[in-house]
Amino acid sequence: MDPWSLPLTQLSGVGEERAKDFAQLGVESIGALFYYFPIRYEDFRLRDLTEIQHGEKATIRATIYGLPTVQYYGRKKSRLTCRLVSGPHVVTAVWFNRPYVKEQLVPGKEITITGTWDMHRLQVNVEKHRFATPKADQALEPVYRVTGSLSQTFLRKIIRQSFQQYGAHLEEILPASLLLKYRLASRWDALRWMHFPQDLRQGSWARRRLAYEELFLFQLKMQAFRMKQRRELGGITQVFPQDQVEQFIERLPFTLTGAQQRVVVEILKDMASPFQMNRLLQGDVGSGKTLVAAIALYASVLAGYQGALMVPTEILANQHLQSLQELLAPYDIEVVLLTGSLPSRQRRDILAQIQLGFAQVVVGTHALIQEDVTFQRLGLVITDEQHRFGVEQRRILRAKGWLPDTLFMTATPIPRTMAITAFGDMDISRIDEMPAGRKEVETYWVKPQLLERILRFVAKEVAKGHQAYVIAPLIEESDKLDVQNVLDLYQTITQYLPHLTVDIMHGRLKNEEQDRVMEEFTAGRTQVLVSTTVVEVGVNVPNATVMVIYDADRFGLAQLHQLRGRVGRGDDQSYCILIADPKGEVGKERMRIMAEIQDGFILAEKDLELRGPGDYFGKKQSGLPDFLVADLSRDTTMLEYARGDVEQFVRQEQFWQGQLEPQLLQWLERKGIFSEQLLD
Ligand code: ADP
Ligand code: MG
Repeated sequence: MDPWSLPLTQLSGVGEERAKDFAQLGVESIGALFYYFPIRYEDFRLRDLTEIQHGEKATIRATIYGLPTVQYYGRKKSRLTCRLVSGPHVVTAVWFNRPYVKEQLVPGKEITITGTWDMHRLQVNVEKHRFATPKADQALEPVYRVTGSLSQTFLRKIIRQSFQQYGAHLEEILPASLLLKYRLASRWDALRWMHFPQDLRQGSWARRRLAYEELFLFQLKMQAFRMKQRRELGGITQVFPQDQVEQFIERLPFTLTGAQQRVVVEILKDMASPFQMNRLLQGDVGSGKTLVAAIALYASVLAGYQGALMVPTEILANQHLQSLQELLAPYDIEVVLLTGSLPSRQRRDILAQIQLGFAQVVVGTHALIQEDVTFQRLGLVITDEQHRFGVEQRRILRAKGWLPDTLFMTATPIPRTMAITAFGDMDISRIDEMPAGRKEVETYWVKPQLLERILRFVAKEVAKGHQAYVIAPLIEESDKLDVQNVLDLYQTITQYLPHLTVDIMHGRLKNEEQDRVMEEFTAGRTQVLVSTTVVEVGVNVPNATVMVIYDADRFGLAQLHQLRGRVGRGDDQSYCILIADPKGEVGKERMRIMAEIQDGFILAEKDLELRGPGDYFGKKQSGLPDFLVADLSRDTTMLEYARGDVEQFVRQEQFWQGQLEPQLLQWLERKGIFSEQLLD
């Protein structure tokens, strides 16, 4: 009997109404009730008076010594006092407004009281008392989130009852070998201890076991789904002459870094395999992801397929078009651009080229996923800055081919724990090395009062022939947030620097206007570009050496790092200036960290430590599951182990035959992964 298939109404005391209230809490079966964990515990463990601080709340065991007396004040108020002996101490217990307790206070009787200790009066203000000897597993009393007709007392009672009636059906789900390997508590013990621990140690054993279980099952779901897809659908095999790809790499304008070489091998291996590639390519800004993409696209074209590269902005699309054309044109490869701003005649023309297969590499924005875009033979799909696209958009692009190999590129350094959780169904490649000769971007955190000095510095750099970005957070006037308006900022800067060519860039400008602004800046005719974060992703102007960021504390560290990545792309020393006056300690710490640390991955780990996983991505787009017990910023090692352990199982044929840990396969079935649509 599976407790997850048993409705709560099977429990005596739970009718339709209570079942509804439980549903509100997300609990719809007896199985789920076992996993409805307390939010905290009330501590009723017996203490010795000598170790209790004045004003502290505690529980002591005592013997009634004197006769109780009651004083009344007015109609409703009363004060009941009674002398007790606890160990060698005589204390006074006080009950307010509960005169009826007096009848129960018989001298010589044992009593347990919980209340606040007043050390000066040797007095306990009693909140709760009991006469029975407290049971060990009731000393820490669970406190649950409750609603409607459900009370704390009721929840405690019904959960105890469930354990008695149905606990036997709580079967172990983790493989015995793993329980042994990590010395994990059994599922039954862990769940009981989670609700009714005898001491803190039991509580932490319970949490450890359940956190592992959670991470293991989550990984199992992700990996099993993926394996199933591989087993049942396969993918395309891209066959390309290895030596021709090698030649292409040799003739590139630079030598690949070791990390680039490694990820290229990983990607090409996936493409040549009969399975669909589903790979995340992480690489800090400037680590050379575009070059890697170009190699993959080249291989795909050699194999007789078309490749598509989708990017979030037109600026980026143009930039990628240029670099890809430079790299691929010598090999007679046709690279085309598809964006929303193409004139319709030209667009029709491009669409035809794509459909007929003349266009071998297509670079584009969201325009790529329009319904009327049809590929002849799409073999490789790459999305750059993948977090900028929704799941649905990426899915549509993939669906334009038959199981095309897919590469998701991101410059947002994601801490590894989060990457393998949020992207557990992907393989991960990481470029963790910068091309040689890159200089660190000197980063300073300054207060807004120093604006004049900052602008003098900007002018000095410009005088050397360099360019600068000045970033304002928002375009709209927003009194509430008190953020610098980009238009105001533009005014201020032109006032301070009247002799410089200053331009303005934001998302509200028409596409042609944006193109013009970028062209002017890229060509070096604009010296200072005042902009919103539209330049955050991908923009590559090596001559720019200064990045000034207004209200820097309003940005996430990941985003600041992206912005900083716009400079330091050439041979000259670059600078990033963070203007901020954060009030809180965390805010200050974040600015200090930014100024100190260059490595995007380390920054990401720090940010995760400082702000927790939710804040790092922003809750909504994170794709992170809400774990009940596991904590991604803490249980990192455990996650790595769980991932490896799961791999051991899903790789084996016996697992899929149900001959190896069949309970896991059954769990997957219950979770419905075998009925989920495989094809996008
Ligand atoms: P990303 O997209 O990862 O931010 P890019 O692909 O735009 O980085 O590369 C940043 C710059 O580094 C580009 O100007 C590129 O030509 C250059 N680059 C890429 N790979 C190398 C390399 N192996 N050696 C030297 N320069 C490189
Ligand atoms: Mg890039």
